[in-house]
Amino acid sequence: DHPETISVQACADYALRLFQSRLRDDHVQVEQYWPEQTLWVKADLVRLEQVLVNLIGNALQAMKETDSPRLTLSARAENRQVVIQVADNGPGIPANYLEQVFEPFFTTKAPGSGLGLGLSISSRIMDDLNGKLQATNLPEGGACFTVSLPLAPSPR
Ligand code: ADP
Ligand code: MG
Repeated sequence: DHPETISVQACADYALRLFQSRLRDDHVQVEQYWPEQTLWVKADLVRLEQVLVNLIGNALQAMKETDSPRLTLSARAENRQVVIQVADNGPGIPANYLEQVFEPFFTTKAPGSGLGLGLSISSRIMDDLNGKLQATNLPEGGACFTVSLPLAPSPR
């Protein structure tokens, strides 16, 4: 674990870049909303990237049957926290599963296509970063995962 002061925008960019060809192949429209100023957090870049990769990967899997798939990434500073959201316009999460999705081995995917560990590992990582990970559904449909962690002072 190598916590450093890192840019949330740069980290999200790395995560998104891993999915570049899949986003293109699946015709996923990507929307990004970032503030102009860099949002700094104290975290291990690889670990925060892993959380975002898990969330983006889940969103893409959830939108497999969606007509005009759209992935929305945003980040903002709020009450000394950085709030990052990964949202999709897939089917969303059944209300009775909103808590359970974070439990180890919970998956609704076919055997062999999901271990059900991504979200439990991600919420553990967020705990270690003094942050949290929450799931909600959007009023217009689709799931939205919110990552929040303490804002760090600018390293410069
Ligand atoms: P896995 O992806 O291996 O199933 P995860 O821990 O990443 O394990 O996710 C657990 C479950 O949460 C998924 O099987 C799915 O039911 C639900 N889920 C996660 N992300 C989404 C999403 N974006 N839309 C709908 N359901 C989701
Ligand atoms: Mg997953």
